[in-house]
Amino acid sequence: MTAEAAVKYVTEIPEEEVSRVSEWINSEEYKEKNFARQALVINPAHACQPLGAELAAHGFEGTLPFVHGSQGCASYYRSTFNRHFREPAPAVSDSMTEDGAVFGGQNNLHEGLENAYTIYKPKMMAIFTSCMPEVIGDDLTAFIKNARNKGIVPQDYPLPYANTPSFNGSHVHGYDAMLLSILQTLTEGKKIEGRCTGKLNLIAGFDANTGNYREYKRILKEIGIPSTLLADISESFDSPLDGTYRAYPGGTPLEDAADSVNGKVTLTVAPYASAKTFNWIKDNFSGKHISMPTPFGVEKTDQLLMTLAREFGKPIPESLKAERGRAVDAMTDAHQYIHGKKFALYGDPDYLIGYVTFLLEMGARPYHILCSKGTKKLEKELQALLDGSPYGAGCKIYINKDLWHMRSLLMTDPVDAVIGDTHGKFMARDAKVPLFRFGFPIFDRVNLHRMPLIGYQGAINMLTTICNKFIDIRDETCDDRNFEMMR
Ligand code: SF4
Repeated sequence: MTAEAAVKYVTEIPEEEVSRVSEWINSEEYKEKNFARQALVINPAHACQPLGAELAAHGFEGTLPFVHGSQGCASYYRSTFNRHFREPAPAVSDSMTEDGAVFGGQNNLHEGLENAYTIYKPKMMAIFTSCMPEVIGDDLTAFIKNARNKGIVPQDYPLPYANTPSFNGSHVHGYDAMLLSILQTLTEGKKIEGRCTGKLNLIAGFDANTGNYREYKRILKEIGIPSTLLADISESFDSPLDGTYRAYPGGTPLEDAADSVNGKVTLTVAPYASAKTFNWIKDNFSGKHISMPTPFGVEKTDQLLMTLAREFGKPIPESLKAERGRAVDAMTDAHQYIHGKKFALYGDPDYLIGYVTFLLEMGARPYHILCSKGTKKLEKELQALLDGSPYGAGCKIYINKDLWHMRSLLMTDPVDAVIGDTHGKFMARDAKVPLFRFGFPIFDRVNLHRMPLIGYQGAINMLTTICNKFIDIRDETCDDRNFEMMR
């Protein structure tokens, strides 16, 4: 008897039933049931809070992310970053198990801190929580104070910590909470009356595109603005392969982060991913505080450059003006391939605003816009963008819906393409449309995190990727007589 023959299926489903259900889930009737769903989330387009906290921690010099909670959770965050960046993501966990869940995780935290401090010699450990210690109500403030009093870590050793309960919020909120705590810790007592570093503090938010960080730094250098990029992951997750392993490559120097409290201007280009941090900065940092959208597309990049030029009294250099001209030229050359096309979009709030801005500039239609952890404020802002363009007419926003909802939308009200992350590949395949992977995480393509999406160069990159794919599809599907050299 073969092994296959020995398998006894518990339930036999006739092929006709499989095809009936396969067709039914593409129907209007199913969509209505799907949208009536209340108590179940299927394939949400976000990760949990601690994952975001870990990204913020990786953005600082010599910093070891420390997960207070379950080891499995820590592995999930690390493996997500490993797969997205194809780089190591060194982080530790104090591995709470059943006894920690019953008696509290203080012993785990103390032992973990002692080991990590001794073995990995980080300059700072950034502590954040997984679900388990949040459910049982572990008191991080007291645990950390006790650790210092017991001499596990020196009294003045920087140990920022954030409560990052995953049953509330998303990776974006965890990023914000961790960044806030890191800045509170590093800047404590560093504000000096009358001192101004003359620098810009830039907050990029939860952005897992290392190319974007490099692009910000390049633009600032072109204009001649001294800057501190807070939570700079450009080296942490994109360091050169030179034969030497470094546990903590790159990151914002701790001294610069501490002195950021005396900055000339603090600018966030991620209002949704740094809302709490920015509110605190407004009350505590010297200088001006400015919040603006992530610079996707030409108009928002213009806004960024003009703001920087105004605040630092610098002219916009010819090189950037020329870059703008090239972006406009590239958009003009390519618009015929994207104009009027319908897109389905999902992702983080700051990125969604960026996608919508870019598509409307190209005369494309951001037709289904979905955020699985969004707010009324986000909905209003997206709606205002749609209302401000003729291409926004008839486009719809879905807040706190998931990718299974999005699948129903694709099957009942089709689009030409999807923009999102790797998790959308199944529905895009079912809907037989391309998926443009601009978000996070991207597991199934290489090097996309190195391709900037922000600024004029980012606009060129996005439209090149999109338009060439549409041209590929035309080449692959057209009749022989329409298979042209020129497209
Ligand atoms: S949702 Fe909670 S249990 Fe799941 S990986 Fe995140 S922290 Fe761990």
